Amino acid sequence: MGRIRILPDQVANKIAAGEVVERPASVVKELLENSLDAGAMDLRIEIESGGRRLIRIVDDGSGMLRDDALLAFERHATSKLRDVKDLLAIATLGFRGEALPSIASVSRLLLETRAIEEPTGTRIEIAGGKMLRCEEAALGGGTSIRVRDLFFNVPARKKFLRSEQTELAHIAALVTHYSLAHPDKSFRLMAGPSELLGVTPVATLRERVYQVFGSQILDELVDIGVRERELFLPPPSVPPSEAIIEYRSEPEEPPLRRFRLSGYFSRPQVQKSNRNSIYIFVNGRLIRDRAVMHALTSAYHNLIPPSSYPFALLFLECEPEEVDVNVHPSKTEVRFRHGSFVHDFVRDTIRERLMESRPAPTFSPPIAAPARTPPAQPAARLPYSDFSQVLENETPVAAEPVEAEAAIPAPAPARARVETGPAMPEFTLRPTAPPVPRLDFSAPPLEVTPGPPSSGKLQPRRLDMHGEFPRDAIPAPETSLSVLSDLRPLGQIHESFIIAAGRDGLWIIDQHVAHERILFEQVLKQRAAGRVEIQRLLMPLILQLTPEQQIDYARIADELHASGFETEPFGNRTLAVKAAPAAVSAPDLERVLYEILETAEGEQRGASLDDLRRNICASIACRAAIKINMRLDFAKMEWLLRALAATDCPMSCPHGRPIAMHCSTREILKAFHRI
Ligand code: ADP
Ligand code: MG
Repeated sequence: MGRIRILPDQVANKIAAGEVVERPASVVKELLENSLDAGAMDLRIEIESGGRRLIRIVDDGSGMLRDDALLAFERHATSKLRDVKDLLAIATLGFRGEALPSIASVSRLLLETRAIEEPTGTRIEIAGGKMLRCEEAALGGGTSIRVRDLFFNVPARKKFLRSEQTELAHIAALVTHYSLAHPDKSFRLMAGPSELLGVTPVATLRERVYQVFGSQILDELVDIGVRERELFLPPPSVPPSEAIIEYRSEPEEPPLRRFRLSGYFSRPQVQKSNRNSIYIFVNGRLIRDRAVMHALTSAYHNLIPPSSYPFALLFLECEPEEVDVNVHPSKTEVRFRHGSFVHDFVRDTIRERLMESRPAPTFSPPIAAPARTPPAQPAARLPYSDFSQVLENETPVAAEPVEAEAAIPAPAPARARVETGPAMPEFTLRPTAPPVPRLDFSAPPLEVTPGPPSSGKLQPRRLDMHGEFPRDAIPAPETSLSVLSDLRPLGQIHESFIIAAGRDGLWIIDQHVAHERILFEQVLKQRAAGRVEIQRLLMPLILQLTPEQQIDYARIADELHASGFETEPFGNRTLAVKAAPAAVSAPDLERVLYEILETAEGEQRGASLDDLRRNICASIACRAAIKINMRLDFAKMEWLLRALAATDCPMSCPHGRPIAMHCSTREILKAFHRI
C-alpha cells in the first residue's frame, strides 16, 4: 500500500497557491526539504552552471515505493497530509504535493529511488511534464533526483535568471542554512568539480557553526542555551488562517503551550550592514518573519545603530498547531497563532542573554590594559555606532570564552600581522596615549556653571540689561558647506567632535566621518587613475570564507585586485592575502576584507561595478580614518576642516551619515531671547 495520496479538492484548494519554482535555488530548496522529510542523514548536492544546466540531489532517506514514485508527479500528491485537519499541525517541511510535478514540468528530470521495503528501485524520466520512461532498476536505497536544463521550455522564465554566480550564491546560502538546522546530518555541496560546503555530522550546533563559519565567529557569539516560556491558554486566540478556521475544534486544546528558543546571536561589536546574517528557523524550517525579526532588532535597540544588524541563528520550537505554515507558496513565511507572545518571548530572551553575557568588553585599550576585562557596561546609552568600532580597533585581548559545550578542535586560521606605518602622514592613526575606552554621555558634556533655574514662565523681554546684539551684525545664514574652510576650531568634545566657530554661528563636526569622507574621495580618485599605493605583507594573511563568501569573492576578485588587494584562493574556502592598499593598516586588513565581502552580498549582488568600487573604497576609508576618542591638535583640526571643505560632498560620509551640525547665529540669539 503506497504512502502517497492525491489530496482531495477541498484540501488542495485550501493550500496557499502560487508558483514554487522561480529559480534554481527554489528547486534545490524543494528537493532538499523532501530529502529531509524522508529522514535522510547524508545529503549530496551537485550543481552545474549555477543550477541552470544541472541540479542533482542524492539522499539516503526512505526512498519511494514503485507506485508512489509515479504518483509523486501528480499535482497535490503527497504522503504528508491526509485531510484538512492535518493542515493545522504540519510537522514536515513539505505538504503541498506540488514541488515534484512543478519541477518536472519545467525541466528534464530523472528520478531514481528505492524504498527499503522493495528489492528493486524505480527510474523515471520526465521532460517538460511528459513521462519518457518508467522502469525497474537495480538501485541502492534512497533517492536521487537530477534536474537538467531548468526552464528549457519556458524561455520567458529563463530570461529572468541572474548570472550563474548569483544563482549559485543563492543555492550555497540555502544549503548552508539547512546544514545549520541539521548538525546531525552530513551535507556536501559541489559546484562543478569544487566543493563549496562539506560538513560531517556533529553532536552540537556549536560544532556545526564552527564547521561552517570557522572558529573566529564563535568568540563573537552568545549561546542562548535553551530558553522556554509557557503560554497558558486560553487567551483570546487568533485563528491561523481563514481557510482552516472552520475545522478548529475549540475545547480539545491543552491548557498550556511551550515555546523553546535556542541558537546563537552576536555580541554588539558585530555589526552587519544587512539582514543576511540573520537566520530564523521555526520548527526546523527556515523562514522570514517580520515579528521575529522585529523582536531581534528591538532586543538590540540602542546597543547597535539602527542601520546595523546582528548575526543571529535562532531556532524556535513550538507545537505545530501554534504556527501556520500554509501562508506562502514557497513556505518561507509563517503566521503564529500567538504572534505577540512569540515576539515578546524572543525579544526578552535575547535581551536577557545579551545583558547576562556582559556585552562589549571583549576588547580593552592596548596600553595599561587591566588584567581583567572591564566590568560590564551596557553600551545602551551610546547613540554612536563607532563606539564599538573603536573598541574593535584596539588590540584584542583574550575574549571571554563562550560557554563551552563541546571540546572543539580549534585550528584557528594562521594569520600574519604586519605593523605598518600610519596611512596618512598627517596623523598617527593609532593613539599613543591610552584612549578613553568609551564615551560616557551620562556625564555632563561640558563644564557649565548652572544658571538660575528657569521659572518656566515667559518673561517680558528687557533688552537693555544685558547689552544688545547689533542687528546688522547678524550674518546672513550660512547654507553652504564650503564655509567649512573658514571655520576656526575651538576644541573637541569627548575627543570626538570638533567644535568650530564660523562667520555664522557654531559648528560641530564628527571627526571620524569627516576624515572618512576625505579619504573616501582620495581613495576613489587613486583607484580611478589606477594609482593605488599598496603594501606587501611579510606573510600572507589567511582568511576563511563561507561558501557564499567564496562565490562573492570570485565575483569581485578582479575589482579587489584593482583596488590594491592582492589575493588568491588558498585551498578550500580559504584566501591568501599578499598585499593590501597602503591606507589599510595590517591589523585592520581582515575586517576590511570581510566588510567588503559583506557589502558585496545579498541585494548588492546585482550592483553595478561602480557601486562595488565605491563600496570597496568606503570600507578602506572607514578603517583608515581617524577614530573618535582621539585627541587632535589645532593644526590637525584645521587641516581636517580645510580638506573636508575641498571634498565633493562634505555633508555626509560614504555610508550616508551626516558630518556636520550647524547652529546659526540667529538660532543662538533666539535661544538667548535676544531677538
Ligand atoms: P510534498 O513534499 O509537499 O509532499 P512533493 O511534490 O515535494 O510534495 O513530493 C511528493 C511526494 O514524493 C512526497 O510527499 C514524498 O512522499 C515523495 N518524495 C519526494 N521526494 C522524496 C525523497 N527524496 N525521498 C522520499 N520520498 C520523496
Ligand atoms: Mg516537497
